[in-house]
Amino acid sequence: MMLEELCEEVWKCSLELPKNDLVKMTSGNVSGRDPETNLVVIKPSGYKYEDLTPADLVVVDLEGNVLEGHLKPSTDTATHLYVYRHRSDVFGMAHTHSPYASIFAALGEPIRPCLTACAMLGGEVPLGGYVSVGGEGIGKEIVEKIGHSLAIIMQNHGVFTIGSSASVATKMAVEVEDIAKITYFATLRGEPIWLTPDQVAEMANVYTNVYGQR
Ligand SMILES: [Zn+2]
Repeated sequence: MMLEELCEEVWKCSLELPKNDLVKMTSGNVSGRDPETNLVVIKPSGYKYEDLTPADLVVVDLEGNVLEGHLKPSTDTATHLYVYRHRSDVFGMAHTHSPYASIFAALGEPIRPCLTACAMLGGEVPLGGYVSVGGEGIGKEIVEKIGHSLAIIMQNHGVFTIGSSASVATKMAVEVEDIAKITYFATLRGEPIWLTPDQVAEMANVYTNVYGQR
């Protein structure tokens, strides 16, 4: 099996999506890019998470040619590959229709930062315009609008997250849903206290340099 370690990582990350209530049935996907070969491991299309094994994942090159796998790759493969081709710093992506983040997608609103955890994602989660599913359109919109954020809300659709690995992108998919949920309920009670850019920058520094084990 090609890229065994990366397949194992993408498989484990994929299972985190249903475990964290971010996806139902077959929706959503995770991919990872191997830094040495630039090959991408991605979830197969329309496949149930409970049936998924590392060997079911599909290995594609950056042009979308399938190099290994007995299943069709995710319908969002062109999106993932476009982002990988245009963002040399991105080695993992996740996509979900997680409900609270998708409320912002339905409303066509970015998620403004009102929690310190927002700094982990880069502050405000930007909004990408409406694009139909299947081709490179979503990828182009992500690259154009995501900026330094690790997540983007795609209008009328859902969330895409990026990161330095599939694991980071998956963690961000969980974070963005948590943040969306709290922000959504907070706005029902009144106007949240939005963070200033300085507060976001200060917290981003904490997440980068202080938080976690190293
Ligand atoms: Zn989708």
